[in-house]
Amino acid sequence: MFDYIIVGSGFAGSVIAERIANQLQKRVLIIEKRQHIAGNAFDSYNEAGILVHNYGPHIFHTKIKEVWDYLSQFTDWNIYHHQVLGVIDGVKVPIPFNINSLYEVFPKSIASKLEEKLIQSFGYNVKVPILKLKETEDEDLKYLADFVYEKVFLNYTLKQWGLQPEDLDASVTGRVPVYISRDNRYFQDRYQGTPKFGYTKMFERILDNENIKVLTNTDYKEIVDINTNTSEIKFMNNKFDGQLIYTGPIDYFFDYKYGELPYRSINFKFNDIHQASYQQVGTVNYPNDYDFTRITEFKHLTGQRNESTSIVKEFSEAYIPGVNVPYYPIKNDSNFDNLKNYKTLVRQLDNVHFIGRLAEYQYYDMDAVIAKALRVFNEKILKSGE
Ligand SMILES: Cc1cc2nc3c(=O)[nH]c(=O)nc-3n(C[C@H](O)[C@H](O)[C@H](O)COP(=O)(O)OP(=O)(O)OC[C@H]3O[C@@H](n4cnc5c(N)ncnc54)[C@H](O)[C@@H]3O)c2cc1C
Repeated sequence: MFDYIIVGSGFAGSVIAERIANQLQKRVLIIEKRQHIAGNAFDSYNEAGILVHNYGPHIFHTKIKEVWDYLSQFTDWNIYHHQVLGVIDGVKVPIPFNINSLYEVFPKSIASKLEEKLIQSFGYNVKVPILKLKETEDEDLKYLADFVYEKVFLNYTLKQWGLQPEDLDASVTGRVPVYISRDNRYFQDRYQGTPKFGYTKMFERILDNENIKVLTNTDYKEIVDINTNTSEIKFMNNKFDGQLIYTGPIDYFFDYKYGELPYRSINFKFNDIHQASYQQVGTVNYPNDYDFTRITEFKHLTGQRNESTSIVKEFSEAYIPGVNVPYYPIKNDSNFDNLKNYKTLVRQLDNVHFIGRLAEYQYYDMDAVIAKALRVFNEKILKSGE
């Protein structure tokens, strides 16, 4: 009845489903554990009629024209360039910390000296990871590096990850830069925005094809059985000869054979406020104050006009399976071997494709996961399915 089974209706699963249905004219079943499609990009209108991102603020940004063009088939865009401010000693400064931030926190004479030294050492319009800046020999730049490390980076990292920076993989800490520029935008990608009518509406259009059936509220293990030794797949107790695309957690697929992989979760606290606007920009970070990491006001992101507004505060917390949601993989030395073992098992299953942030245990932005899904379709599924 179905040619392909896909587990998960986030970007990874939905993009592949659309390609299979439209390009190969084959039938796809998507099995989704949650009550809705769109994965973590799911958005909905709250009681006050404001569009909120239920799993935290999502801003689409990409350098990849192919990805932008692909999504633009399914949505118009609200053009939006995200800005973030961070509260440092009571003052709100642009984040990533940039040259404008320098002038907000230091007297002009000191700021201009630091600006000159930064440009001399690294050039203009360059992002320097904070840990690299800390290695500088110059005394003034060292002072700046320590200042940014202490005031912007350290406590935010502790709150967000519950770990010291040195216990995190360099790919995580390396993402926090000092930006030698006066560009206050959070992203510099050529294409940026949010879907004009929301992410969920865009997903509805991606999946709007008679070859695609979506079954929500169902854990795939209720109806699919995979023998990981023989690669045999059973669907509703019958042998299934098609391919399976898996976008759920890699450790769950293998029944935690090598243990649970750790994640960081977030508790989102939403608030409706009866005023037109709450804060100056989309997101304000609180590295050193309060227990939450940041506040986002959705109307900035979506461009929606309404006399009320809605915000979300993010409280990072440990992930507990069955209790909260796994958001960010915590990659470090202690789980490196377990992940490697799982990936070895993945390579032995040539009728199952593992794609996405849970299945690859990899932090992906939305554009990267779409690019990956398109590549897997073109290189693996298209050829074998024609
Ligand atoms: C707080 C937060 C903010 C983010 N902000 C941005 C941003 O601003 N910009 C950006 O580009 N990216 C952002 N991202 C990243 C973005 O969410 C991911 O790139 C994207 O969700 C990855 O898509 P995916 O399909 O791999 O995973 P998901 O969206 O998680 O989809 C996987 C799906 O599989 C389903 N599933 C899991 N297990 C099972 C099972 N056993 N049976 C059936 N279904 C199952 C899940 O319910 C889920 O719907 C953010 C992520 C987080 C956590």
